[in-house]
Amino acid sequence: MEGNDAKILAGGQSLIPMLKLRILKPKYLVDIGELAELSFIKEGEETTIGSTTKHWELASKRISGLEIIQNAASKVGDVQVRNVGTVGGSLSNADPSSDYPAVFTALDATMIIRSRRGLREEKAEDFFKGPFTTSLDPSEILERVKVKALKGYKQVYKKIVRRAGDYALVGLALAIKIDSGMVKDARIAFTGVGDKPYRSREAENEIKDTKLTDSDISKAVEASVKGINPPSDSRGSSNYRKEVMKRLLKNSLEEMRNAS
Ligand SMILES: Cc1cc2nc3c(=O)[nH]c(=O)nc-3n(C[C@H](O)[C@H](O)[C@H](O)COP(=O)(O)OP(=O)(O)OC[C@H]3O[C@@H](n4cnc5c(N)ncnc54)[C@H](O)[C@@H]3O)c2cc1C
Repeated sequence: MEGNDAKILAGGQSLIPMLKLRILKPKYLVDIGELAELSFIKEGEETTIGSTTKHWELASKRISGLEIIQNAASKVGDVQVRNVGTVGGSLSNADPSSDYPAVFTALDATMIIRSRRGLREEKAEDFFKGPFTTSLDPSEILERVKVKALKGYKQVYKKIVRRAGDYALVGLALAIKIDSGMVKDARIAFTGVGDKPYRSREAENEIKDTKLTDSDISKAVEASVKGINPPSDSRGSSNYRKEVMKRLLKNSLEEMRNAS
């Protein structure tokens, strides 16, 4: 059995529809969905999440310093999808509108990837290459994800959808650390606005070491859409997506500032 002949089946929520539509025709399916060894959440300074951990498990668990993961997991699809879909399946599938890729990019997560050659690690930002494309080669499996706790950060994942249970039109993963009224660190990543998750370092830099005044927020909001060209489709135009990005970021930053 060669790597190209086989496809990993986890929750089947994305793969099964592709098989039904004959978009993919693998000779073999390797079903890892119920492998207990790959389903775990090990909390610590660095939390490790096994790839077959299901969305509902993440939605049910508050991980200290990583509350954004629970927040995002509870917004993936609907109950039926969350009951069987897995975190590893979602990350490996790399749908440009899916929720976890932006969250794990904002968290600077590390993907731990296994093959016969052994283990390799890759930062989330390098793992996502384009629409439905990651750095995984057909002989590799995403085994687990490692994330450092963001203690003391305010964190939120927000998504705008047309109908309940939809993929994000635009989603925002935001984490900021405010200390003595100053922003010490900021993580800002969007989904639904390009081929892969979009981390806006320009927007982050606009608010780092500021008091998050209205003017600081405005600068970050403008920076977040600079040089980016979101797609236009039946759900919304490129410009509309940009307006949604700006509104999501502005409202979320104001809420965090007012709550600090
Ligand atoms: C109605 C509906 C609504 C949805 N809404 C949302 C939503 O709002 N937000 C969202 O983010 N997602 C949404 N999804 C997708 C859902 O999150 C899927 O669970 C997820 O995209 C794929 O996870 P899975 O475990 O089902 O993987 P599968 O469908 O089994 O696999 C998906 C792909 O990843 C590969 N793969 C799976 N696991 C691994 C692994 N460990 N290593 C390497 N490759 C692997 C497979 O070979 C396949 O190519 C929705 C799906 C449906 C059907």
